[in-house]
Amino acid sequence: MRLLLVEDDEILSDGISKALRQAGYTVDQIMSGADADLALASNIFDLLILDLGLPKLDGLEVLRRLRARKQTLPVLILTARDRLEDRVMGLDFGADDYLTKPFDLPELEARIRAMIRRQMAAGEVEVSYGALKLDTVGRRVTGNDELIDLSARELALLEVLMLRANNVVNKEQLIEHMYGFGEEVSHNAIEVNIHRLRKKIEPYGVSVKAIRGLGYLLSESVEHD
Ligand code: CA
Repeated sequence: MRLLLVEDDEILSDGISKALRQAGYTVDQIMSGADADLALASNIFDLLILDLGLPKLDGLEVLRRLRARKQTLPVLILTARDRLEDRVMGLDFGADDYLTKPFDLPELEARIRAMIRRQMAAGEVEVSYGALKLDTVGRRVTGNDELIDLSARELALLEVLMLRANNVVNKEQLIEHMYGFGEEVSHNAIEVNIHRLRKKIEPYGVSVKAIRGLGYLLSESVEHD
């Protein structure tokens, strides 16, 4: 799950990002409305958290343009504006939910989970591959119903491979799913994460196969019972 957080208060933005990354989401932080408008046009996000009072372009205008492009990703508005007409306007402009500052991080996380759950068709919340099950909302993976302890990066890696099972996923796609903008990424780091992930999922009969020059895909190993 890749989230875009548009918030010009740096301290608040860092606090929210830290909590969401710990929960296993990939988070991109953007500080201005104009940059948000540009980033959203690239269409790679699963959810938008949007402040309204933003430099360069107001949050409501960012939202209006997003919906004018027929982009349907869920939008949570985050703002100090608690006047009724702002709230109504935000929802009329196509926001899915609204949280007024100050708020508690657990509430923000619960709202995000609820929005993702609503966005996905009922059957898609849980994705299976072999003995592995990924709860995309609860952010957990089990193998034969035992919880597998994965780091946030390993979870993001496994998620993109499971969501595109039977397709080869190239390194650029993995990086896009696992890292935010401006994060230092080496191709070696991807390999390290793949190595760690393999060790954790191979006991359940699933591995990550490297296809030379193309990328990676999940495979069920033959020797599992
Ligand atoms: Ca603001």
